Amino acid sequence: MALNETQNEKGQPDVLPAALFGLCPRCGQKTLFAHITRFSEKCRGCGLDFSQYNVGDGPAAFLTLIVGAVVLGLALAVEANLHPPIWVHVLLWVPLTVGAVVGSLRVSKALLLILEHRNQAREGRIDSRDDS
Ligand SMILES: [Zn+2]
Repeated sequence: MALNETQNEKGQPDVLPAALFGLCPRCGQKTLFAHITRFSEKCRGCGLDFSQYNVGDGPAAFLTLIVGAVVLGLALAVEANLHPPIWVHVLLWVPLTVGAVVGSLRVSKALLLILEHRNQAREGRIDSRDDS
C-alpha cells in the first residue's frame, strides 16, 4: 500500500499520544487546543490550518450518553451498597460527570481531527473534469 504525502512527513506523532495530549498531527507540538475543548485556528509551530477540519458534534452526543450511563451505574451501585446522604451523591457525581465529559470530549475531538488529517478526509465531491 502506497503511503500518501502526509504519512511520509517526519516528526508526526502517533495517533493516541497526539489525541491524549492535544498535539499537532503534523509537527507534534502541543498546539491543537486554544481552550479546554476548542481547537486553535492553526498550529503555532508549523502553520497547519486546523479550521479546515470539521469534526462536528458527533462526539459530544455520543460521549454524553456513554458517560451518563457509566455515572448512573456507579451512582446506583454506591446507593445500593453504601446508602450515603444525597449531598454525597452531588459532591461525587457532578464533578466526576463534568470532568469525564470534558476530558473525553477533548480526546475524542483531537482523535477525529488527527485521523481526518492522516486520512485526508474531505466531503464528497462530484468529479467535474469533463464538464464543458
Ligand atoms: Zn504543527
